[in-house]
Amino acid sequence: MKSKSWLKAGLFAALATAAFAATPARAQGSLVMYCGVQEEWCRAMSNAFEKETGIKVAMTRKSAGEIYAQLKAEASNPRGDIWWGGTGDPHLQAAEEGLTLEYESPKNKELHSWALDQWKAAKHRSVGIYAGALGFGFNTEQIKAKGIPEPKCWADLLNPKLKDDVQVADPNSSGTAYNLLATVVQLMGEEKGFDYLKALHKNISQYTKSGAAPAKAASLGETAVGIVFIHDAVVFAVQGDPIKPVAPCEGTGYEIGSMSIVKGARNLENAKKFYDWALTPAAQALAAPAKSYQVPSNKAAPVPPQSPKMDQMKLINYDFVKYGSSAERNRLLAKWDKEVKALP
Ligand code: PLP
Repeated sequence: MKSKSWLKAGLFAALATAAFAATPARAQGSLVMYCGVQEEWCRAMSNAFEKETGIKVAMTRKSAGEIYAQLKAEASNPRGDIWWGGTGDPHLQAAEEGLTLEYESPKNKELHSWALDQWKAAKHRSVGIYAGALGFGFNTEQIKAKGIPEPKCWADLLNPKLKDDVQVADPNSSGTAYNLLATVVQLMGEEKGFDYLKALHKNISQYTKSGAAPAKAASLGETAVGIVFIHDAVVFAVQGDPIKPVAPCEGTGYEIGSMSIVKGARNLENAKKFYDWALTPAAQALAAPAKSYQVPSNKAAPVPPQSPKMDQMKLINYDFVKYGSSAERNRLLAKWDKEVKALP
């Protein structure tokens, strides 16, 4: 990523609430929303939009890879109108495959350059709504009980004392886990990256469906380590659970959480209304109260004080165009299935 404009964190809280004095409208039709973030934030967004516009929202929460697969399966008879949230890579794949629609929001001019990089990469079929860095969270009590040093690096997760005590999601369903796969390949090179994932496999107790689930498991002590977006571990740390979020020492990847309009949307005008609204500071300010601490894409949206400080991390120059392409994503997922998941 060329721009790191999220450096200017936390200065804009006052602007965020102003535009959101809702005058509930009369019934204005409906909107089918496929939501890729945590359930609580999905509900906050659909309720607020419904209240403000009178448009009835039917929302379903799924992981990013699952929403992509659903759009593909429904392509000849689309059911969804808007895909809001989830990692940018599957949004890019959907854009390339013509499953989503070109749109230029009047709000684009208010966005950070990294959000518009996603819009350009998607040939205007997707836009960035938040950013977050990948890492892991470890349970402090479990690590202490094992008598090993606190893990700080990707390499530390290969410690044999962590056997069956690391969780991450399956990259086929989860955007988080695909982000890990693409990050490791970019950080270490493809051969060494796959060697790393094969070695890590020995310590994995289970590949979950949803990307954030390992953070909860680590906070409860059900696993010693959960590989997740760092903000997903922060959620449990701020409520006092014994989990420590880590930005790995070798460097790490990150996501541009994204939004796309479904091609063939039955409620197209409502989808555009939602899209424009979701890019406002007021809508983006709904994240933190719903315990979601990503960095928002509107420059005037408040950055939650709990947000991991991405400017203080060693971030790779994640190649979203390459790793969001249909060919590369399909190739890497097939290779991971064959060479990693199939291992005993
Ligand atoms: N939860 C949060 C808070 C996220 O930011 C993201 C990714 O955008 C996810 C979950 C991703 O979910 P999954 O990995 O299940 O696709």
